[in-house]
Amino acid sequence: MSDKILVTRSSLPPFDEYVEKIKGIWDSRWLTNNGPIYTEFEDKLKKYLQCQNLELYVNGHMALDISLKALELKGEVITTPFTFASTTHAIVMNGLIPVFCDIKPDDYTIDENKIEELITDKTSAILAVHVYGQLCNITKLKEICRKHNLKLIFDAAHAFGVELDRQPIANFGDISMFSFHATKVFHSIEGGAVIFNDKKYERKLKNLRNFGIEGPESVVEVGFNAKMNEFAAAMGSCNLDYIDENIKKRKNVVEQYCKKINNIDGIKIIDYDENIKKGIKENYAYFPIVIDETKTGFTRDELFGEFEKHSIYTRKYFYPLITEFECYEEKFENIDLPVAKWVSDRVLTLPMYSELSNSDISRICDIILNLYKHS
Ligand SMILES: *Cc1c(COP(=O)(O)O)cnc(C)c1O
Repeated sequence: MSDKILVTRSSLPPFDEYVEKIKGIWDSRWLTNNGPIYTEFEDKLKKYLQCQNLELYVNGHMALDISLKALELKGEVITTPFTFASTTHAIVMNGLIPVFCDIKPDDYTIDENKIEELITDKTSAILAVHVYGQLCNITKLKEICRKHNLKLIFDAAHAFGVELDRQPIANFGDISMFSFHATKVFHSIEGGAVIFNDKKYERKLKNLRNFGIEGPESVVEVGFNAKMNEFAAAMGSCNLDYIDENIKKRKNVVEQYCKKINNIDGIKIIDYDENIKKGIKENYAYFPIVIDETKTGFTRDELFGEFEKHSIYTRKYFYPLITEFECYEEKFENIDLPVAKWVSDRVLTLPMYSELSNSDISRICDIILNLYKHS
């Protein structure tokens, strides 16, 4: 039996660097609540993302939930069904109604050409996702939001390090959210951040993170506890020193994959050349493939099973669609989302992390190629 290959493997800084970073905590006894490492991490991130306004959180989900509250949204929010549970949960937890718009078959992001038909007098925002780190059509989304007076929020959980025309993508929209979960390209064990364009949101974004406490004798909001602690901030700060190197290694992994399975009939991968033409610098967060069984002769689930037999653990990410979750299926029974449904039934994300070796990539690709031959 050959070694296991997992779908992801968290990056870690050199052990000694992390220990050095947290040493001072044993003297200061400052473990959480805006500590010195937190402040240092915040400053480093602002520089890296070239942004003015940034707040840190305990995780990406709370960052998103609090963002929707800070924007004081009402009614309906147009969003994508092809995402992680968090995106929709944040809308629903805020008492808002998610209105699902289909996605595009080329990059899996929300289909900007199908949004306007979904806008009603109750619509207050668009919550779009840069899924797999693939950028939404930012220009068109901004245009629609301006025309209809809607707020624009990006769930950029997958897109840390992505740039458009040499600009980090953090500054697009009213608010962008990043997740620093251990499985993401950049992480602080658990953590998240929001970047926002208008200072007027700052007060709520801060207060809602700490029980709505504004001063020792002043509680102004019904808030959460969503603060990032010093140990998480230290991990983030150390990891940030390696992010560019990490993304370079991921690029190598993708190039190896592409060499082997770029031109297989019925297996669609991200169009990296097209993205370069559009001025996008990728972060290579995921390596999704979409399997058209009418051309390959095998289904996504068959490939998934074959990988499993060889101790290779891939993920059906995102399957099922949000609208098919047990908690949502009765609410969203009759919504027609043909592209999202088609992709969700056929997508598989392959193992993807900076240290994935060439020999492991060969092992993975050979399984696909062998199955292809025998189908
Ligand atoms: C990871 C993720 C989140 C939530 O982030 P956490 O830090 O895990 O809370 C939200 N949206 C998407 C698309 C994600 O992948």
